Amino acid sequence: MKRDRKAKILATLGPASSSEETIRALFEAGADVFRLNFSHGSHDDHKARFDLIRALERHSGRPVGVLADLQGPKLRVGAFADGPVQLVEGDTFRLDLDRAQPGDRTRVAMPHPEIFDALVEGTDLLLDDGRIRLRVERCGADFAETRVIAGGALSDRKGVNVPGVVLPLSALTDKDRADLDYALQLGVDWVALSFVQRPEDIVEIKGIVQGRAGIVAKLEKPAAIGSLAAIVAESDAIMVARGDLGVEMPPEEVPAIQKRIVRACRQAGRPVIVATQMLESMVGTPVPTRAEASDVATAIYDGADAVMLSAESASGKYPVEAVRMMDRIIAQTEADPYYHQAIDAAQTPPEPKKADAIGAAVRDIAALLQVAATVAYTSSGYSALRIARERPQAPVIGMTPRRATARRLALVWGVHAVLCHDVQSVSEMSDLACDTARTAGFGRSGDTVVIAAGMPFGASGTTNLLRIAQID
Ligand code: PGA
Ligand code: MN
Repeated sequence: MKRDRKAKILATLGPASSSEETIRALFEAGADVFRLNFSHGSHDDHKARFDLIRALERHSGRPVGVLADLQGPKLRVGAFADGPVQLVEGDTFRLDLDRAQPGDRTRVAMPHPEIFDALVEGTDLLLDDGRIRLRVERCGADFAETRVIAGGALSDRKGVNVPGVVLPLSALTDKDRADLDYALQLGVDWVALSFVQRPEDIVEIKGIVQGRAGIVAKLEKPAAIGSLAAIVAESDAIMVARGDLGVEMPPEEVPAIQKRIVRACRQAGRPVIVATQMLESMVGTPVPTRAEASDVATAIYDGADAVMLSAESASGKYPVEAVRMMDRIIAQTEADPYYHQAIDAAQTPPEPKKADAIGAAVRDIAALLQVAATVAYTSSGYSALRIARERPQAPVIGMTPRRATARRLALVWGVHAVLCHDVQSVSEMSDLACDTARTAGFGRSGDTVVIAAGMPFGASGTTNLLRIAQID
C-alpha cells in the first residue's frame, strides 16, 4: 500500500477517534502518524490507543508513526468559588499564589511561583486563548495587581500566556516527566515538547530520551522564534504550533513566521509540521471552508513535511472525513504543475557535507534519468532525510532494517518507509532496493533506481555511497 502524495498527515487521537474501527478508518483515509495528546486523557487512554495503532500496523504491514505530545509549562489560573466571573475593562484584578482560596471578581490564584519573579510592571498577561488581556501594574514575589485591558468571562483553570517574557521555566514540568517516562515505555516514535523557549530545552529532553524517540520542538513562544536556527539545529523535527503562537503573537504575524520556520527547516533538512485549525470548521461540519482548504494547500506549496489535525480528528464530528479531505487537498495541490516550481524556487543549496552532496546528486540523477524511485538504505534514517531535503520529484523509498527508523520516517516528506533485513554487501543492497521498488509498486523490470547509503552499513550518519541500478 502506498500513498499518492509526498506530504504527510498527522492526526490527533481523542474521544472521537479511539475505537479500533475509527483508527483503522483514519489510517485508510490517509493518516501517516498519530498524535497522543498528553494534555488530555489518562495514561490508560493513551495506552489503549497506542496498542490499537500497533495492531493496525501489524495488519496493514505499513510502518505507522506515533507521536506523544507533552503538555509543557502551560500556565493556568485556579478555580472560582461561584462559577465564571466577568472581568470589565478598566477594573483591577489580582493574581496570587493562594491556591486554597477560590477566586472571585477581584482575584484568583495563579499557582506558578516562578512566573511572579519574571513579571514586571507593564507586562501583559493573556487569558483564555487571548480573549482577556491583563496588564501588570504592581507585582511582587507572590502577587500581581493588574488592570483589565480587554475583559470577558473568566472561568476555572483557563490558560494564561505571557508573550513578552522568557519565563524561567524548564520546558518539562513534573507531569511532563512522568508522561515522557510513560510514553517512552510504551515505545512511541516521536516526542513533542510544548512551549520550547531556548535550545537548552531541547538539550534537556534529549538527555532523558537518549535516542529512544525523535524530538519535535513545538514553536509557540516568541522567544523560540528569536533562536530559531539554534532550536532547529538541536531538534529532530519542528512543529509550527499556530494555536498558542497565535495567542502569544498578533495573528497577522503568524503567516510570515510560519513561512520563516518552514524555510529554516527545509534548509536544515528537518521535518516540519504545520499544525492547528487547518480544517477547524470540520469539527462540526462535513466540509471545510474555502479558506481552510487554501491554508492546507499553502503549507503544501511551501514544502512542509506534514500537516496536522487536532480537534478535527480528536473530538470533532467528522474525524475520518477531515483526514480524507486533507488527503485530497494535498494530492490535488501536488498535482498542480506549479507545485514543483514553488518547491524548487524555495530550495536552498545543499550544505557542504558528504550526505548533502549525495542527496543533491540523487535528486539530479533522478531528474536526468527519469528514475522510477530514489532509495535510501538507512539505519538511522539520515540518508533518507538528506534525500527528502532535496525534494526530488521521484518517490523516495526509505529502506531500513530498523523498525523504529521506518516508523519515524512516516513523518517525513515523500518517504515511503519499508522495513528490510540487514545487508552485507553493496550488490545485495542494490538487488534489495530494486526488489523493494518493484514490490512496493514504484517500478517494473527495466526501470532505473538511484540508491544512497552509508558504508559501513549500520553505522549512522555515514552517507557516502551512491549507486545506479536497474530493476531486472
Ligand atoms: P497544542 O499545540 O494543540 O498542544 O496546544 C499546538 C498549538 O498550540 O498549535
Ligand atoms: Mn500549543
